[in-house]
Amino acid sequence: MTDSSVDLGRRSFLRGKARTAPDAIRPPWSRADLFTSLCTRCGSCAGACPETILRPGDGGFPEVDFSRGECSFCGACAEACPEPVFAITAEGTRDGSAASYSRPWSHVAAVADTCLSAQRVFCRSCGEACPESAIRFALARGGVAQALVDASSCTGCGACVSACPSNSITMKPGGDRLA
Ligand code: SF4
Ligand code: SF4
Ligand code: SF4
Repeated sequence: MTDSSVDLGRRSFLRGKARTAPDAIRPPWSRADLFTSLCTRCGSCAGACPETILRPGDGGFPEVDFSRGECSFCGACAEACPEPVFAITAEGTRDGSAASYSRPWSHVAAVADTCLSAQRVFCRSCGEACPESAIRFALARGGVAQALVDASSCTGCGACVSACPSNSITMKPGGDRLA
């Protein structure tokens, strides 16, 4: 067991949180696995975010709140951070790989059964909000339109989250596509 895993376990215990709690979404290009070890909770990233979507979460560590808006992938958070928390810097990628810069995080949008379209109520808000046109509506049995996310096009920007009137969109791990 590493020192960091001991540290993380102790933090979870002290906060009284179940270890199965959903993982927070960290700022784009940040090193999610090392985040709580490297971040000093200085708040520089949140202060730099023009969309104000970064806020202190569990333990004061910054996390993304898509109910406030979307990520524009401007990189201001990474540039403002004084610690080696991010895989990119103002000069480029830490490992010299351009591919790292193009893959900000691993999650993609997912639509829950509470979607109004699935309840036969006309709604296309998420599709209209998506800058990647990653959400399409497919007619299902009974004339119900299902909102479907194309995971290969979704960037995980979160623009669809606050656009949804029924809070039906969450972010789910997207596998290796972006991570
Ligand atoms: S990339 Fe820009 S918009 Fe996205 S979290 Fe960082 S500062 Fe905010
Ligand atoms: S997260 Fe962004 S790219 Fe993905 S479906 Fe929502 S709006 Fe479109
Ligand atoms: S915005 Fe929400 S309720 Fe409307 S179609 Fe999209 S997921 Fe369904």
